[in-house]
Amino acid sequence: MKIICIGRNYADHAKEMNSPLPEVPMFFMKPDTALLPKKNPFYYPNFTKDLHYECELVIKINKLGKNISEKYAHEYYDHVGIGIDFTARDLQKICKEKGHPWEIAKSFEHSAPLGTHFLPLEGKNIQNIDFRLEKNGKIVQEGSSKDMIFSVDQIIAYLSKFMTLKIGDLIFTGTPEGVGPVQIGDHLEGYIGDEKLLNLKIK
Ligand code: ZN
Repeated sequence: MKIICIGRNYADHAKEMNSPLPEVPMFFMKPDTALLPKKNPFYYPNFTKDLHYECELVIKINKLGKNISEKYAHEYYDHVGIGIDFTARDLQKICKEKGHPWEIAKSFEHSAPLGTHFLPLEGKNIQNIDFRLEKNGKIVQEGSSKDMIFSVDQIIAYLSKFMTLKIGDLIFTGTPEGVGPVQIGDHLEGYIGDEKLLNLKIK
């Protein structure tokens, strides 16, 4: 399986990063080793001094498809989850300056922890899902998929022009504003609506 992440999909986050708004979905990838196995602790990586959380809604692909049209994209998922796109912001800054790919800043071991489970959409509008991240009990990110620049269906249509989407592939759909650093000892909790799905301690 593969993990595809959309960058700059919320205008307020692009603004806080001083990044221009994308004209088409911007994506990068993480390997399957970016997932954090259940019950594994998350350790602060030793190659960064500025690890940031980015809380994101995650779509799990449930049907194989290529060149999917936007109109039919909704047939390729029926659950939504939550995850953290951990980013070594200091390394990413160097990548951006040099025009290099972002993998060392984004695709490292355990850089994509997921919530405990995915929620069935059951007819709910994917473009009206509220989610939030709390750090040490305080809300640091609050978002809604209605503020996405590119909808989930537009993202699926776009990605599937370039690569086959397979069952189990994950799409991190971008982060709203409020990204920030974590320290060892911090506690992250991610919610969709009022349901807590992600519970992560930084060791
Ligand atoms: Zn992200």
